[in-house]
Amino acid sequence: MSYRLFVLALLSTPLSAHESVPTFSYSPTMAFIGLLLLIVGVSIVYVFKLKRDIKKLKVKKKKAALGFYSLHDEISGYPNKFFLQQKLDKLLAKSSANPYALILIKISHFDKVNQLLGHSNGNVILAQIAKRINDKLENELGALLFEKRQEKPIRLCHLGGVDFAIWLDTAKKGHDEHYLATLLERNIKDSMIVHGCTVNYSLKVGIAKYPDHGTQLNELIERAYLALEYHRLHVNQSKVFDHQMLKYTNEKLILMAELSSAINDNQLSIYVQPQVDMKTKAVLAGEVYIRWRHPTRGLLAPESFLEVAEEMGVIYSLTQWVLNEAISMAAQLKRAGLSSKIAINISSKDLLHDEFFDSVVLLCEKYDVEPSRLMLELKESALLQEPAKAMSMMQRLHRIGVSLVLDDFGTGLSSLAYLRKLPIEHVKIDGSFISGLHQSELNIAITGAVIDMARNLDLVVIAEGIEEAAVEKKLLSMGCNRGQGFYYSRPFELTGFALWLKKYNTQFQSEVIS
Ligand code: C2E
Ligand code: MG
Ligand code: MG
Repeated sequence: MSYRLFVLALLSTPLSAHESVPTFSYSPTMAFIGLLLLIVGVSIVYVFKLKRDIKKLKVKKKKAALGFYSLHDEISGYPNKFFLQQKLDKLLAKSSANPYALILIKISHFDKVNQLLGHSNGNVILAQIAKRINDKLENELGALLFEKRQEKPIRLCHLGGVDFAIWLDTAKKGHDEHYLATLLERNIKDSMIVHGCTVNYSLKVGIAKYPDHGTQLNELIERAYLALEYHRLHVNQSKVFDHQMLKYTNEKLILMAELSSAINDNQLSIYVQPQVDMKTKAVLAGEVYIRWRHPTRGLLAPESFLEVAEEMGVIYSLTQWVLNEAISMAAQLKRAGLSSKIAINISSKDLLHDEFFDSVVLLCEKYDVEPSRLMLELKESALLQEPAKAMSMMQRLHRIGVSLVLDDFGTGLSSLAYLRKLPIEHVKIDGSFISGLHQSELNIAITGAVIDMARNLDLVVIAEGIEEAAVEKKLLSMGCNRGQGFYYSRPFELTGFALWLKKYNTQFQSEVIS
């Protein structure tokens, strides 16, 4: 029943009531009640219709919004990846032979903005930054035009999150992709003071070229992203993708980025393992090992991140940090009257760093420690990259009294003639020959040959990876007196080394006396 029919029915109610029920007389009260009912009825009908109309309008608006947001980002309102793909399908259908560049732009440090201001305020700022980028593109005629809004060209695509993209026709005369990328990086950065804290944001850019680096949008985005991350970690490298970068898997890139912050966030720590005289059981030294307390992956062993640290070029600062902690411990041992030395592993890259020598000298002076209290452990491979430079650094260190150890001995190819030239005092037989030594004829033969050779060259042999008494016994019978391994102690936090040594010595002396 339509609302008109309903009104008519109401109007006719008093008459029909009068006809069918004659005992009731038609009075002004009845007329008033009728009028009241009429008004209520009409209001209900109007409210009902109004509600229906509003609902229709809402659905219509929602449909329009859905249309907009299928091609635009919900937060910034800028064209999304789907819109870019649509545009590219048309563009490349016409001119696929042209060279293009995809410029990927990432807003750095934006998580801090969100943390301090909350996500809804963060979204407003994100949209403002997007506008600033788009404004810079106003006269970049080579950049793909998505649409115009109030006569202003929209050339920026919001890929999602803090990632944006520009599609540039590099055949067009004018600014090129490098110019544009640098322009954006240099000009769009800011700092804001929020609740008394300064929040900085800046743009990072990576570039992939069509068709050289890929012909599909997703592939180009991935490669531009790789270039961006690579450039972020190797500041002097180009922002443009290079096939060489493919060897940097995502996991490695993540690790690289995390390692940079691990150093600043004090996530690194140092462990120590005692090195003993197997005959007397005296502790001759403590070898320090770096560890990374990863916030989600737990305690990481050095081999899982040292290679990355070397590639990133942060190994030197990492070693400097280890040296500082280790030499400070050497000073603590000296003050406590303990004679144990501190052994530090160094990388081949450290050895080739000109300032390495000065840093050792300065730290020894700073902590008042004689260089002779230090042992530096190098791997054979460290000497092969630039032998002359490595040799000169070793000689300088040797001259001031630092003991040099050739680590992991037996795994490389050093000849007797080469070893003779090195200013080393110790060779450390690799743990792979030591574990289960007493049960392996081959390992016994190799270890025996190393011990003989070392004796001929006047070098001290250290065995690493001793895990059981039988191995210790075998080594002693072969003439090797010095060793380390889980059999004596697993590595533990360096901070506890002085106390550990005092306790060990007390126990050791009482055993000797009794
Ligand atoms: P490395 O210098 O040959 O150290 C010996 C490795 O064997 C250490 O592993 C140590 O924890 C482990 N180990 C000690 N005793 C035993 C044992 O009885 N059984 C077994 N299975 N393993 C034992 P870690 O700490 O994982 O270090 C691995 C390598 O990482 C080291 O080999 C060293 O080359 C390097 N490294 C460690 N710390 C540093 C550092 O601060 N700087 C540099 N450049 N390299 C480091
Ligand atoms: Mg070592
Ligand atoms: Mg070793």
